[in-house]
Amino acid sequence: MSTDSTSRPPLGFATQLVHADEGFGVEHGGVRKPIHTSVQYGFDDVRELIGVFQGTVKGGFNYARQGTPTTAALERRITQMEDGVGTVCFATGMAAICAVFLTLMKAGDHLVSSQFVFGNTNSVLGTLQGLGIEVSKVDATRVDAVAAALRPETRMVFVETIANPGTQIPDLEAIGALCAERGIVFVVDNTITSPWLFRPKAVGASLVINSLTKSIGGHGTALGGAVTDTGCFDWTRYPRILPAYQGQDTRQWALTQVRKKGLRDMGGSLSSEHAHQLATGAETLGLRTDRCSATALGLARHLAAHPAVAKVHYPGLESHPHHDRARRLFKAGSWLMAFELADSSRLVEVVNRLRLPVKATGLADTRTLIIPVAPTIFWEAGPEVRAAMGIADGLIRVSVGLEDLADLAADFDQALAG
Ligand SMILES: *Cc1c(COP(=O)(O)O)cnc(C)c1O
Repeated sequence: MSTDSTSRPPLGFATQLVHADEGFGVEHGGVRKPIHTSVQYGFDDVRELIGVFQGTVKGGFNYARQGTPTTAALERRITQMEDGVGTVCFATGMAAICAVFLTLMKAGDHLVSSQFVFGNTNSVLGTLQGLGIEVSKVDATRVDAVAAALRPETRMVFVETIANPGTQIPDLEAIGALCAERGIVFVVDNTITSPWLFRPKAVGASLVINSLTKSIGGHGTALGGAVTDTGCFDWTRYPRILPAYQGQDTRQWALTQVRKKGLRDMGGSLSSEHAHQLATGAETLGLRTDRCSATALGLARHLAAHPAVAKVHYPGLESHPHHDRARRLFKAGSWLMAFELADSSRLVEVVNRLRLPVKATGLADTRTLIIPVAPTIFWEAGPEVRAAMGIADGLIRVSVGLEDLADLAADFDQALAG
């Protein structure tokens, strides 16, 4: 299958996804990109080696810390999924997030972040402050809160599409427009929605982050992260790109710096073995996400009607504060759901009584995963941060898997009955 024909209409998401490797040229006619384990890459003519170092040989490899043919194939696949101009993969989602913050900002710069972010990302925001990068955390569900926090030295605005675990949804369209107007880099963590449910490019995101560990890998067997440039931001206007990375194609400036500083120097590199597993998992992204979203909606409705449940947080429910936004922007509500018990003293008892969901942290496995939030993933954050993020003591996070809805509903019923 040729992907470079311009005469044919563009292929659909799933078709492109399963045929992505072919366009890359797989060795010996193999259908899937193999696992390249070589750390070193040798050349007959040293001028080629020099060209790889200087970036004049396109797509060349020299040392696996900066990428391998297998990680490059995954990068290409993610670029396609996000409709971007390039991607850099990392060993984890956190490595990808840190690389964006640490390689594209310096002391004195200012970052505006949603206050509703992944716990470890929230911890990184504290690290940035220690390094002299100022951080304002705002209620990004309202664009006026973001606008009010902007300063002349604001370099980036950071949000998650659906916040984990509270499921708040930022005013993505308005923030995108605001960032475009003010020339600020808009970074969107698309982990919970994945490019199947939402492409942040549609709201003007500059950089998109995906934890590949979650939806894209989908099987809980490999960690990975990715940064994709959508091509929306004009990097010639960004003062933090070093001259060495200002190549001919200005759309690649930021990713070149992220790869050199974030991968080559900081070393959070994805292994070929894991890249291969993630790429294989990615092929069923749409099928899994549609199924899990439908089950999650069914389970959310079921729990919302249960007397032992005080509140269900799921964007697909009409009672969700950002339900209209979710319907307008996302194909479905995702596999992420949280609910509050009417009696928070029953937290441990109810979770322990459940038989099907695995009591574990982590998201977007094939199995349903469940965790009480306050005493685990948000324990280190402390009561003040938890209150600001809307995390009640009785909050339980559910990552809905591929089980049958009827089985899950019955299991929750028996656990809640007590
Ligand atoms: C899990 C997660 C991350 C971090 O990804 P890892 O691959 O576990 O490092 C970042 N952002 C969000 C929204 C996540 O859910």
